[in-house]
Amino acid sequence: MNGYFDHNATTPLHPVAREAWLRASEKHWHNPSSLYRDAGMASQQLESARERLGTLIGADAERIVFTSGATESNNALMRSFELVAISAIEHPSVRMAAGKALELPVNADGVVEPEAVKQMIASKRPALVSVMGANNESGALQPWREIASICRGQGVLFHTDAAQWIGKLDGASLGECDFITGSAHKFGGTKGCGFLVLPAEDSRLNFIRGGPQEGGRRAGTENYPAIEAMVTALETITPRLSEIEISQSKRRDDFITAMRARFENLRVISASAPRLWNTVLMVMPEHDNLKWLTRLSRRSFSISTGSACSSGKEGSSVVVTALGASPEELKRVVRISGGWETTAEDWLALAQAFGDVADELNRGGRPQ
Ligand code: PMP
Repeated sequence: MNGYFDHNATTPLHPVAREAWLRASEKHWHNPSSLYRDAGMASQQLESARERLGTLIGADAERIVFTSGATESNNALMRSFELVAISAIEHPSVRMAAGKALELPVNADGVVEPEAVKQMIASKRPALVSVMGANNESGALQPWREIASICRGQGVLFHTDAAQWIGKLDGASLGECDFITGSAHKFGGTKGCGFLVLPAEDSRLNFIRGGPQEGGRRAGTENYPAIEAMVTALETITPRLSEIEISQSKRRDDFITAMRARFENLRVISASAPRLWNTVLMVMPEHDNLKWLTRLSRRSFSISTGSACSSGKEGSSVVVTALGASPEELKRVVRISGGWETTAEDWLALAQAFGDVADELNRGGRPQ
């Protein structure tokens, strides 16, 4: 049984990524900026990884800047614009970096309405609009493609933080966005590796100064082994995504059905919106989320109370807050996020474990 249900926080290293990392580290560990033959080979491999990633996300390779992950990409971008409009449910790495940004509201399903973007552009004319691809807490898919098209029509730049989209759903159209954020460890790559896609002609972003790497935009010796591992993981998983979406959505829905059968008044956030196949954000009918989390952890299940970046703090769900929940409800939020290899039995075992924990808590917290 695999009880790991926190894939939106991070994923285990994919075996093909591990192989790719080892191969790259052993064969092409040289500095891609050096001038001898071996370094030239490392540089060629790096550029080939950039091309391959570009193919997967529908963006020309010269638009891709490799970074240390989504947090860096989001910070670099948000700090480069004066007036930015961001959705109310963006990840903290967008919200905190954007400072005093304009806020795009979400509807009752936790989804940004394209109409709200049209109105925001008409009234405030931001320089950049940022709406994530899929929400990290609820899994709700945002209409980024439609919003990208609205922004294009209005001559406003558009960014999507696709950290949770890439590797779970097909990303071949993402290149339609002016800016895209991605993070390797969300889809089987290593921690500390990601990218920012920007318009080829953009000269505004110069986010780490120093050497001439990454077209002079992001200095520092490239982490080619991690980049190779990231691209290999995405190449391996992408052809399987439509089949995974079908089989895993059913497992997720069977889990929800089992939970609803056991818990009256269970609230599933964004239940009627299209969502990631792996994610369920729920407000439990009773008991604080940390009680659920610790007792499930004792039974070898790993879940989360919201986004990992703000977990540990009570009432930290950005999405449930944006939906206007009471502080009391916020304490009962739990997030489940399965993975590519999670089986139907794993999902049902988790539902069963929730029931067992409920029995234990209702007996006064004593384990059986
Ligand atoms: N954006 C989103 C939507 C995320 O889910 C995360 C990870 N929680 C990040 C950004 C930050 O990613 P990283 O760990 O690569 O900095």
